[in-house]
Amino acid sequence: MADWIKSFTEYFPNELWSIEAEELNRFSIDAWPVVIKMKQTGQTPYLPQVVFRPRFSKEVTQVLGWANQHRVPVTAWGAGSGVVGAALPTQGGILLDLSLLNKILVLDKMNLLVKVQAGLMGHYLEAELNSHGFTLNHSPQSLDRSTVGGWIATRACGQFSSRWGGIEDFALAITVALADGKTITTRLAPRAAIGPDIKSLFIGSEGTLGIVLDVTLKIFPIAETRLLETISFPSVKSGLTAMRRLMQTGLRPFLVRFYDVDESLFVARWSGITPPLGANIFILGCEGLNDMALAEYRAAMQILQSEEGVRLGPEIAQGWMDHRFDFSGVENRLAQPGGVAETIEVASLWDGILETYEALKHDLSPFAEHVLGHFSHSYPQGVSLYIILLDEVADAKSAELRLREIWDVAMRTSMAHGAAISHHHGIGLARQKYLREELGSSYDVLERVKNALDPEGILNPGKLAFRR
Ligand SMILES: Cc1cc2nc3c(=O)[nH]c(=O)nc-3n(C[C@H](O)[C@H](O)[C@H](O)COP(=O)(O)OP(=O)(O)OC[C@H]3O[C@@H](n4cnc5c(N)ncnc54)[C@H](O)[C@@H]3O)c2cc1C
Repeated sequence: MADWIKSFTEYFPNELWSIEAEELNRFSIDAWPVVIKMKQTGQTPYLPQVVFRPRFSKEVTQVLGWANQHRVPVTAWGAGSGVVGAALPTQGGILLDLSLLNKILVLDKMNLLVKVQAGLMGHYLEAELNSHGFTLNHSPQSLDRSTVGGWIATRACGQFSSRWGGIEDFALAITVALADGKTITTRLAPRAAIGPDIKSLFIGSEGTLGIVLDVTLKIFPIAETRLLETISFPSVKSGLTAMRRLMQTGLRPFLVRFYDVDESLFVARWSGITPPLGANIFILGCEGLNDMALAEYRAAMQILQSEEGVRLGPEIAQGWMDHRFDFSGVENRLAQPGGVAETIEVASLWDGILETYEALKHDLSPFAEHVLGHFSHSYPQGVSLYIILLDEVADAKSAELRLREIWDVAMRTSMAHGAAISHHHGIGLARQKYLREELGSSYDVLERVKNALDPEGILNPGKLAFRR
């Protein structure tokens, strides 16, 4: 046993930590397909040495103060739903499991705010808000398997982002424990011109700059009406043109998703409807007060139909809504040793998206039987592209190698076409070797911030391409 473990376990009460093999093992794998394959071949390279489970924020600051003094790595863990290996401890040390910091601290109905502890799971928060007539409007597919702190740390983005934005648009203030154990709380205001936005430093920092303790999020009244529609497009090009025009007119439907012909077949299955041959399926949702939702729906449909869109009725869109948290297609495949399944999301300005899509489909097709594509987060300036790859190979080792090849080709092709290498999953281990090139000269600022906030390099070392 390392010397530091002995002094750690003597210093902290034993109900707060564990060094049991089973516990340590639990935190050696998240939802990154590569590490799932490594586990299936008996490799466990990302093993913490101690699991620490604080009950109060104060215990987080205490453990950080201790770890900083003893130069022991600390890796935060929300719910382990990250799909790029960001929460995996690369250098052992302390795994900080935040699951007991799960309280709703304030529900402020006057200002439409909720303040919650970082370890609270998304679906508990959403259910509690719903019981008061409110909703988050942040709805990642992983709502029932991820935490609020994880959303902040990964810069997450939900399925209704075309109207409501990413987590950065919901978070108004955060409390963060810094590497030396000091706590900071950012100023709560609807907007303020009081220097750079400190909270933004931590959004997307993947546990490398501080540990998020609590978050104040915007909330919204539940919409009076939701209208759904499915539209078929003859090509990816026509659907993307329609999507761009929709977003650039100033309309903000809460649901704007467009599937290529290959993925359309998978999506339509949920409703039991076979889409027309060659259809690229677009699903649209408008919400708000009855009149508003109806007016938006009519204006949106006019645009979509003027770009070759053909109305198919609400059923396929409804089927998607009803199954929108279902990830079993990927999970079941990954559970098989030879199963290959990966999801890779990138983002592009409108003028580069079609080329990026075509290049990724082309370059990735030798690596998977199915290469599916959809566009699910759209903006006036551009859109995200989400690629799903499915295949079957001989065994888990071949699957791991295949996944690594897929990542390399996907990242290189995206960069060659000017796309941002991640839209919302983040960097983790999967993308870290591309980050310096991706950020160019601005990486220097990130490195200086890291050195200033965490000079001993204890927070999630080996991530965001930091050298320690
Ligand atoms: C089925 C499925 C669907 C998904 N759908 C979406 C989606 O729609 N949109 C989306 O954006 N993502 C999605 N994801 C990815 C994942 O759910 C998100 O990245 C999520 O935000 C991770 O939250 P978590 O609590 O599980 O964090 P973890 O996976 O535990 O950790 C992720 C990173 O955050 C850090 N971290 C966690 N908590 C804290 C904290 N309190 N303070 C500091 N650092 C912290 C960790 O160290 C790590 O670097 C999906 C994943 C799966 C498996």
